[in-house]
Amino acid sequence: MTSNPANHFKYCPRCAARGNFDEKEKAFKCHSCGFHFFLNSSTAVTAIIFDWNERLLMVRRGIEPHYGKLDFPGGFVDPGESAEQAMIREIKEELDLVPDKISYWGSFPNEYLYSGTIVNTTDIVFKCIISDFSKLKHLDDVMDFEFVNVSEVDVKQLPFLSVQNIIKRLQDEQD
Ligand SMILES: [Zn+2]
Repeated sequence: MTSNPANHFKYCPRCAARGNFDEKEKAFKCHSCGFHFFLNSSTAVTAIIFDWNERLLMVRRGIEPHYGKLDFPGGFVDPGESAEQAMIREIKEELDLVPDKISYWGSFPNEYLYSGTIVNTTDIVFKCIISDFSKLKHLDDVMDFEFVNVSEVDVKQLPFLSVQNIIKRLQDEQD
């Protein structure tokens, strides 16, 4: 059994009849009741936060996948929420920080294995300007945080393709 979603979507979530996953359309189709379920990329948000010494704020993941690995603050966008609202909510939940300003920086595709299935996300990255770090603490899905020098981050140690590519771009911008 491979991790391809086509192997994990066999029965209709509405009527429980057997259906099939169309790999080309990335959709599950039930031929009994007509239910279609599209496996689109999920939207996630990622925060780039620098302190006054130009050190980057990164977090240690307190959840799977990649428990304990270095990552950016962020998370999934909830249904009905804007990416900006999700970004502000996530850094409040994870670090108790409130940004003065956030601005769009880029978007990065990501793919990872979770509960045996490949999950696709689009990580929307915001640069978050924060002047007050006095409340900074690790909460929620985060087991710790650290301030790092971008040039010293070992890309090979990073858990996700998107995180690796964000760091690479930050390192390129510093050159
Ligand atoms: Zn059905």
